[in-house]
Amino acid sequence: STGPLIVSFGEMLIDFVPTVSGVSLAEAPGFLKAPGGAPANVAIAVARLGGHAAFVGKLGDDEFGHMLAGILGENGVSTKGINFDLGARTALAFVTLRADGEREFMFYRNPSADMLLTPEELNLELIRSAKVFHYGSISLIVEPCRSAHLKAMEAAKEAGALLSYDPNLRLPLWPSPAEAREQIMSIWDKAEVIKVSDNELEFLTGSDKIDDAAALSLWHPNLKLLLVTLGEKGCRYYTKNFHGQVDAFNVKAVDTTGAGDAFVGALLSKIVDDQSVIEDEPRLREVLKFSNACGAITTIKKGAIPALPTTSEVLTFVKG
Ligand code: ADP
Repeated sequence: STGPLIVSFGEMLIDFVPTVSGVSLAEAPGFLKAPGGAPANVAIAVARLGGHAAFVGKLGDDEFGHMLAGILGENGVSTKGINFDLGARTALAFVTLRADGEREFMFYRNPSADMLLTPEELNLELIRSAKVFHYGSISLIVEPCRSAHLKAMEAAKEAGALLSYDPNLRLPLWPSPAEAREQIMSIWDKAEVIKVSDNELEFLTGSDKIDDAAALSLWHPNLKLLLVTLGEKGCRYYTKNFHGQVDAFNVKAVDTTGAGDAFVGALLSKIVDDQSVIEDEPRLREVLKFSNACGAITTIKKGAIPALPTTSEVLTFVKG
């Protein structure tokens, strides 16, 4: 695609998911490789919808790193912003939903290549050509990735990009909840579009009520659009002038991994063409209906990346 560019900054990794469901990691007889990482999912979501996307981040110069770069390329995502670290390996996550309903995680990140991206390595030419710059790396906490994250945001902003943020809170990665909250809030007030899940809203406000007051307590002057995703209930939206809810589509969800990333990719692919939709409630609601559809479709199929829809799939789905 040659349309306006969306750059998605952060990590890409491989989730190893047990070949049978409902077991602990220790009990798993084997694992399937599921490529993921929220920022990479968002880039692929945009490209599937026909948009112009680039992924910026670092991978290991190993079999997994090259496999991931290959997946981005095959999906039409520009890989010009990818660096390969010659020493560190690609991040890996082992994830399972146990029979007792608890999610169990184990990460290979000690440190992984994504955490080692330096500000000097950034492809600033690519970043400065972005119309929308999306971020939300789980490596925000560690240097040198933190400095790279901040420099990329600043370069994109200076060049006139709209900044979009998804905190992608994965608590097990942070030393403590207090530190997670502090790190997230340290870049909160730079973003013009923010998407949080209902769980993240609860965590960030410290309140167990997910209502308008809780959402609006997180408002800041640079913000143009705040979205709270509510899974099977859809999403709520907040702007300077109005707020409301767009209900979800009714589907039989089998795997919700990547639904939030599909939602964000869909939203950004519309905003990048015309930012004025943010100020026009009827048009914004149409965009969010499209985003909800992309999220819903992603839950019908297993996996994140394999489930991300094309525009024609979305249109067929919406017509029902
Ligand atoms: P996140 O992955 O960030 O937690 P959600 O799970 O809320 O985000 O999903 C993002 C969007 O995907 C929702 O706002 C909704 O539109 C859609 N979605 C997610 N789960 C379902 C579901 N079970 N049924 C229908 N739509 C869903």
